[in-house]
Amino acid sequence: MRLRFVWQILPAFFFLILLTLLLLTWLFARNLSTFYLEETAAGLEARARLVAFQIADSFALDHSDRLDELSIRLSRETGTRFTFVLPSGAVLADSLESPEHMENHALRPEVAIALTGTIGQATRYSNTVHKNMMYVAIPVQNQDQLVGVVRAALPVTTIDQTLGIVYRQIIVSGMVVMLIATLIGIYISRRISRPLEEMRRGAERFARGELTERLRIKGSIEITALATAMNTTAYELDQRMRTVVRQHNEQEAVLASMVEGVLAVDTSERIIRINRAAATLLGVSPEEVKGRSIQEAIRKADLQRFVRRALSTRDPVEGDIVLHGNEDLYLQAHGSLLRGESGQELGALIVLNDVTRLRRLENVRRDFVANVSHELKTPITAIKGFVETLQEGAIADPDSASQFLEIMMRQADRLNDIIDDLLILARIEQDSDQQELPLTTMSLTTVINTAVQACANLAAEKQVHIEPICPSDLRIPINAPLLEQAMINLLTNAIKYSPQQGKVLIEAIHGDHKTTINVRDWGCGIDKVHLPRLFERFYRADKARSRKLGGTGLGLAIVKHIAQAHGGEVSVTSTPGEGSTFSLQIPLKAQHHNSSSPATTVQASPKTPPDQED
Ligand code: ADP
Repeated sequence: MRLRFVWQILPAFFFLILLTLLLLTWLFARNLSTFYLEETAAGLEARARLVAFQIADSFALDHSDRLDELSIRLSRETGTRFTFVLPSGAVLADSLESPEHMENHALRPEVAIALTGTIGQATRYSNTVHKNMMYVAIPVQNQDQLVGVVRAALPVTTIDQTLGIVYRQIIVSGMVVMLIATLIGIYISRRISRPLEEMRRGAERFARGELTERLRIKGSIEITALATAMNTTAYELDQRMRTVVRQHNEQEAVLASMVEGVLAVDTSERIIRINRAAATLLGVSPEEVKGRSIQEAIRKADLQRFVRRALSTRDPVEGDIVLHGNEDLYLQAHGSLLRGESGQELGALIVLNDVTRLRRLENVRRDFVANVSHELKTPITAIKGFVETLQEGAIADPDSASQFLEIMMRQADRLNDIIDDLLILARIEQDSDQQELPLTTMSLTTVINTAVQACANLAAEKQVHIEPICPSDLRIPINAPLLEQAMINLLTNAIKYSPQQGKVLIEAIHGDHKTTINVRDWGCGIDKVHLPRLFERFYRADKARSRKLGGTGLGLAIVKHIAQAHGGEVSVTSTPGEGSTFSLQIPLKAQHHNSSSPATTVQASPKTPPDQED
């Protein structure tokens, strides 16, 4: 049973007080009555002796009347009952009763003792006066002769009355003491329980996690020791919690900043941890899937199979996972068992690497080799064909010979162009890979004018008007030869794909963080299906036209790489039949991008998905 502290100490208080009172009362009452009886006995004896001394001479039957009268008088004077008894036991006189009505007193214990010559004493109930009486009898001697017994008696009821009063007083004072004890008990229990109560509240605060709060160190040694111990516990707990939280945060930060996707599952395939990279790769939200089974949370059959394999194999496992979607994602997965401190299996840890880019790059490189071979093969085949024709006799005909040689020359030029462009591309790639591209802050107008100059002949052939708009004081960090090359490529395309007497607009717009150079034409435009791949090497929207116009199919790829080398990007918006706008964006803060970062965005009306890797 749970009781308040005060109810636990009060019964003990009461019991102690009661026991003390009873013991004291008993001792007091016993001593008081012993004292009273002894005093009464001594008084009775003294009185009896005095009387005996006075009447020793007249102690005989013939003096009975005088003795009777004397006893009555003495009794009146002293309030004591006197009885004179003869040695035979016959009553000679009595202060209360006439002797005739009294029986022989020889056998009364006190008288019997007195008759033997010593003082007799007895206390008993008297039928004569109907009270408890104390009797003291002394022998009366006359000339060494026992002549009778004088008995003095007093009622002993006064002691009972006195004790009654004492008992009443003790009860009353006992109650007062009890009341005081109760008050003291309440006070003491409060004094003890208040700090305990305070400590309970403190402990509850600690339990709620308010560990920086401290308990007041005040009160008895035990209480202060307890408070100190609790404060120390709270401090230790606080420190430990902080360490745990810090470690947790560190772990979270490490996981969150990992490029690899990390996924941890328990033995029943429930997701314990998933970092942001993994969640992004798998297209889920980390908060939603945590704690759920992988089957219901991530519906990717390949991944589920891999997790099962990782959980069932002791050694680390490796595999490829393809996530089908709008764009297929290729993941390289590593899985290993998670083990606890004592080596028990806790689940499995899966690390996912997005190798989509790598796979795409591999494809692109494969395609590139095929494309280069194909591009080079075409002019070589042509040259070889004409050489054979010449060898077979055409050389004898000067007209056709010079015509064939001219064609061969054109094909050789084409080969040269392709190889030049490939070399430019390779050099830009190499420079930006090694972050060696030197950038100097210089006037953009100069660069644009040089490019316009370089394209002047081509423009004049088609009577295309080029209009450059550029703030003359605009100076930005650039690599002038490369940017010129990019501008020439864009301008050449714009002129090539413009109608006769068309117009090309070059517009430099200076922004807070970047400068945008737009090259706009009102030519044939590009169908939106081509836009995503336009900046790939050898990609041509209109193959026949490009070939006819002597394009290598590498111009825009070069532009894109130059943009990347400047840390910028190139984008295109185009509507077939209306024209195209190519935008080169150059950041003002020089930052080198290596070729792996995206450098192109395309936009058509309507918007098209981002382009492929070139
Ligand atoms: P090319 O040497 O064939 O011009 P580019 O890489 O410079 O190669 O361009 C790729 C393709 O993009 C071209 O074949 C052409 O179809 C298309 N193209 C480029 N610029 C324009 C433009 N201004 N207008 C229309 N089509 C263009």
